[in-house]
Amino acid sequence: MRGFGFIVAAAALATTACAVAPPADPDAAFRAYADQFVREALAFYPEFAVQVGEYRYAEQVTVPDAAWQARELAFLDRHAGRLERFDPATLEPLLRADHGQVDNFLKAQRWRRTTLREWEWNPALPDYNPANVLDVILSTDYAPLEQRLRTVSARLARVPDLYEAAHANIRRPTHEHTLLAIQQHRGALALLGDELTAKAAGSGLSDAEKERFRGRMQAARAAIEGYVAWLTELEPSLTPDYARGFRLGRELYEQKFAYDIQSGLTIEQLFERAKAHRQRLHRDMEARARKLWPKYFGRKPAPKDRRELIAQVIEKVSAQHSKPERFVDDVRAQIPQLDRFVREKDLVDQDPSKPLIVRETPPFSPTRGVAIASIDAPGPFNPGAPTYYNVNPMSDFSPERQQSFLREYNDRMLQILNIHEAVPGHYTQLLHSNRSPSLIKSLLASGPMIEGWAVYSERMMLENGWGNDEPELWLMLDKFQLRTTCNTILDYSVHVLGMSEEEALELLTEEAFQTETEARGKWRRVQLTSVQLTSYFAGFTEIYEFREAQKQALGAAFSLKDFHNRFLSYGSVPVKTIQELMAPTAPAKPAERAERY
Ligand code: ZN
Repeated sequence: MRGFGFIVAAAALATTACAVAPPADPDAAFRAYADQFVREALAFYPEFAVQVGEYRYAEQVTVPDAAWQARELAFLDRHAGRLERFDPATLEPLLRADHGQVDNFLKAQRWRRTTLREWEWNPALPDYNPANVLDVILSTDYAPLEQRLRTVSARLARVPDLYEAAHANIRRPTHEHTLLAIQQHRGALALLGDELTAKAAGSGLSDAEKERFRGRMQAARAAIEGYVAWLTELEPSLTPDYARGFRLGRELYEQKFAYDIQSGLTIEQLFERAKAHRQRLHRDMEARARKLWPKYFGRKPAPKDRRELIAQVIEKVSAQHSKPERFVDDVRAQIPQLDRFVREKDLVDQDPSKPLIVRETPPFSPTRGVAIASIDAPGPFNPGAPTYYNVNPMSDFSPERQQSFLREYNDRMLQILNIHEAVPGHYTQLLHSNRSPSLIKSLLASGPMIEGWAVYSERMMLENGWGNDEPELWLMLDKFQLRTTCNTILDYSVHVLGMSEEEALELLTEEAFQTETEARGKWRRVQLTSVQLTSYFAGFTEIYEFREAQKQALGAAFSLKDFHNRFLSYGSVPVKTIQELMAPTAPAKPAERAERY
């Protein structure tokens, strides 16, 4: 509980200091409050702080027992009370957006704690797994090794308490999350193994510190083993009539969707749009496949069945791909081309002073061997660091896996991937959002806006002539977008409409052209997560519809570049917030000056 007394004291002081009439300068007052909120939230959630690169509280461990939960609710209520004193309408647009994000965060956290209550039914909740944060501390070079080992030692000391809280909290878990927890906590044992023992033994810690480290490691390992044993024993009793089902159900799903997606659409509306979009994509794909058929199959008659036709042409296009040893270079060569195209077509502002560095995914990265490519951007507490585009080198894959990866990320799909991850997708969006730095927008960023922008930019680039309207490229774009579209259909159907495993696999393989392996992986993911799978399509649809509406409203005055620049200028906030801020009643331009909390 170290440090907690300080937070309460600071909070009490602040409450009395601010209990006066509306501030003369609401923007300045809100900025001061936002600053305070960030400081207190990082101190209250030290694990979150470590994940975003703030290590000041890294020795503190959250043990989510009943007493801590009561303190969390008090923390949330206190801030809700303080936030209420600001009228968002009086704040300048960027601050109004921050106000909305803090408000949503406070409400969502309270809802998770009191209504969703995942801490009672998900033994795989990250809150119960000490390995995640220990891994970050051990693999990030933010301080000398000895200092980090002392932090690890301090955290290890609380591991038994953590598992005691988990044991007391969990009541009727789902079978699926229990199996995942057994697997993940066995993985945690691997982290607290011989390698770490050797690291501590060979370090500059004093003998007494080393001794303490060893003792804490042993106790931590015993606690993890106890948890795994308990869950393993519990597992057979988790039959369908006893265990909690993994499906969220309509009421919880709709609430979670509202907090996590922050969409202007209801989930029912989004679901209808996803189904309509799937139909459009299928029609599109059929037309393109028909056009391509003679090129790849000559005079052979095309199949009558639409699915069969599309699948066979996809097969041929997928066979045109890079080589394992050339893959990273191929990605690297394409970024300047995308850059030039965006500039020549005047699509959105870029910043040549902040180049993107393409590199092989480093061995220590959690995405090595998992994701094909990802953007590794500096966190809000390390803004000067370069942005990397990590590309998996494939050298650690088996030949079969290499082939399947290369077919999936064939010559056409690779272009779409680079648009999505780099230009003008994630990397370009990030450059824009960094122009008006706000810790709140970084810490409480909107996933659907970020992913929606990347997906939107794929289609936008092709619409503007990237690839010269090549049918192969369009076919791959449609396939790629069918994935996010069907993810939305799948998530809602499974969690609310009761879709079975068989139906889910059929949807993914028959309608989204996914392989059996990919479909099985997705079925597993939809059992373990909810709502998150809808975020890509939700963001995409809202951005696309918003752009079309602006085009309609502005007629000849509409400029695609202006629309993009303005849209991105508000940072990573929900699309519906950007819509409100860009509406005619809002000031014509967001504040030019850079805000720094
Ligand atoms: Zn993405």
